[in-house]
Amino acid sequence: MIRDYVIVHYHEIGLKGRNRAFFEQALVKNIRRATGCDVKRLPGRLLVSLDADTDTGVALERLRDVFGVANFAHASGAKLNLEEMCALAWEKMQDAECETFAVRARKAHSDFSLSAREINEKVGAFLLERSGKRVNLSNPDVTCAIEIVGDLVLVSVSKEAGAGGLPVGVSGRVAMLLSGGIDSPVAAARMMRRGSRVTLIHFHSQPYTDRSSERHAEELAQILARFQLDIGLWLAPLAPAQQVIASNCPEELRTILYRRMMMRIAGEIASKDGARVLVTGDSLGQVASQTIENLAAVEDASPLPVFRPLIGWDKIEIIAESQRLGMFEVSSAPCQEACVLFEPKRPATKASVAACRKAECSLDIPALVAAAAEGSELKSFRLD
Ligand code: ATP
Ligand code: MG
Repeated sequence: MIRDYVIVHYHEIGLKGRNRAFFEQALVKNIRRATGCDVKRLPGRLLVSLDADTDTGVALERLRDVFGVANFAHASGAKLNLEEMCALAWEKMQDAECETFAVRARKAHSDFSLSAREINEKVGAFLLERSGKRVNLSNPDVTCAIEIVGDLVLVSVSKEAGAGGLPVGVSGRVAMLLSGGIDSPVAAARMMRRGSRVTLIHFHSQPYTDRSSERHAEELAQILARFQLDIGLWLAPLAPAQQVIASNCPEELRTILYRRMMMRIAGEIASKDGARVLVTGDSLGQVASQTIENLAAVEDASPLPVFRPLIGWDKIEIIAESQRLGMFEVSSAPCQEACVLFEPKRPATKASVAACRKAECSLDIPALVAAAAEGSELKSFRLD
């Protein structure tokens, strides 16, 4: 009986010893959850079994978003013998648009009588006669890959690049400060791609703004759920702290002081969530608040280390990635952001840490942080 499979490869560089089993187990679990299919570990690769009732199109679509997959191939599999092998190879090859082909067999843990080289020759000769196409071993248009695994033979002709990176979950938890804009959701996806499980935190200025930024954050959370299957979004109130800052602190420092409050509140929420790092979408020099001085002044207030995966990215690169991930339309639609509340006419471009600390002397920071963290609401999003 012929059945459908997907052969999944991952990058093995840097995956040695104990690390490797941990990585493979995480990838198996994530693929199982994403596709709903059975996944087996084979030496150096994974085998996903597509049942008769699996929608192959949907399973492949889901697999495209699983980080940690270097490439994958949709394969047909049958009980191992030469006739089946030739029949499968022909079935796969007959629809392939190509002038030249090569057969490449790989044999692992099998006592099948033919060597990989003999398989290449026999199946190659069979295809040559049937198809009328030419063999080109050095640069074929199509490669007919034959893998022998125990008493199973798997044949595929189309290898597709995967999402790359590391499986979500192998690099711990982080909390992402998500605005409704372009940069932070891209930064969130980059962290997931390095194996982090991300929780999102969005600050709003209710009741002084409309709910457009929260709606953006929710729509972006739904898009990001694709990569991690489920994701939490905290909606945190910033307005009470903004009011106190606006009435008590120098006007030009407001934006930086808002950001310092965001860091503290996010740190409080993150620790509830088991996250050990805060992540922002900052890119050096992109706007006034992203000078080295201002970034340092903001970081000074953070209770946790701050990661900025886009710090060296150009806006053009960030936009291209946002488009590729299907986020740009939501991110670029207009919305009322929290930070523009009581916005200074001339924001400081080089705020000093000392000036920020002095400006905050009269504020009851622990009370403001505790109230905002308590007033935050958690929403959960799942891949639909
Ligand atoms: P983005 O496109 O992500 O909004 P930006 O280029 O507009 O970034 P800023 O608005 O200065 O830059 O924000 C820098 C970073 O601060 C954002 O990437 C995000 O991580 C965080 N941030 C800003 N506003 C908010 C908010 N309302 N809620 C949560 N995080 C925010
Ligand atoms: Mg912004």
